[in-house]
Amino acid sequence: MNIYRKTSLDGQLKTNIIYCGVCLDKAWLDKEDDGAPRHFTGRWEEAPLEACDVCGAVDQETRDEYENWAEEMNRMQWEEQEQMQ
Ligand SMILES: [Zn+2]
Repeated sequence: MNIYRKTSLDGQLKTNIIYCGVCLDKAWLDKEDDGAPRHFTGRWEEAPLEACDVCGAVDQETRDEYENWAEEMNRMQWEEQEQMQ
């Protein structure tokens, strides 16, 4: 499951709007009162550690990978410190 964060068109302004791939597909169908697609302006960038605002979906695979990576980093740092003493 891919998770995306909405940003401005140039990618500079990041919003707190998070959608998963499925909800994003549906979001294209959302219309403003004037009939314009609600999520048309802006871009979506990948935000694998966030959770979907709508259905709460998470990218568990990426989260697991990230946790493993963070643990590995911690372990390496700890070992480095040990060696320096
Ligand atoms: Zn969702």
